[in-house]
Amino acid sequence: LFITFEGPDGSGKTTQIQQLANTLIKQGYDVITTREPGGTRISDLLRNILLSTEYQEMKDQTEVLLYAASRSQHVHEVIVPALQQNKIVLCDRYIDASMAYQSVGLGIAKKTIKEINHFASSGLQPKRTYMMDVSVKESKNRLSQRTNKKGEIILDRIEQKAHDYHKKVREGFLQIAKENPDRVYLINANQPIDVISEEILEDMTKLLAN
Ligand code: C5P
Ligand code: MG
Repeated sequence: LFITFEGPDGSGKTTQIQQLANTLIKQGYDVITTREPGGTRISDLLRNILLSTEYQEMKDQTEVLLYAASRSQHVHEVIVPALQQNKIVLCDRYIDASMAYQSVGLGIAKKTIKEINHFASSGLQPKRTYMMDVSVKESKNRLSQRTNKKGEIILDRIEQKAHDYHKKVREGFLQIAKENPDRVYLINANQPIDVISEEILEDMTKLLAN
């Protein structure tokens, strides 16, 4: 069972994945958690190139292809083998992120992003996507609480982009939720962590009973 978590930076995806994994493991399920970009040796190298603030010269086309390359390695090396062993795979970000960040955010044609990612993933689609929605203001607020030992705020190359870009990305995610009501479960990420976990668990329980 392939499950993805999507939404803007600081929407709480990582926290929810951890909570859900813990609960499902306690119930006896075989679960793996993983994330994009990354999740394999090759994908982690690509993640560094994509997110380091050193590479401001990166072109939009390059960005699209590197996300897709990272995804391809991750799908074929980690996700597909786990699914073949009947595991539950909980993945932090997937193709919807490319539709929101690279298509809506950068203004690249949806068709292009779809085709490139269809190739990269061999068409693998999640059964359910939990879409965590949070305002750009609240997202910024939460990111500003992530500091290093010196108390400095650390933002990656994408998180550093302008407010307008992140507004488009959020709208992109909301549009995806609207267009895929059967797959995407939209969550108000302003709610308390435990309320959100309950909501997700209730839906997952139904999904697992089917
Ligand atoms: O750990 P996190 O999920 O935040 O790291 C991924 C980073 O890559 C995010 O900051 C996000 O803004 C960016 N990203 C992106 N396009 C994607 C996926 C992630 O710009 N398709
Ligand atoms: Mg982030």
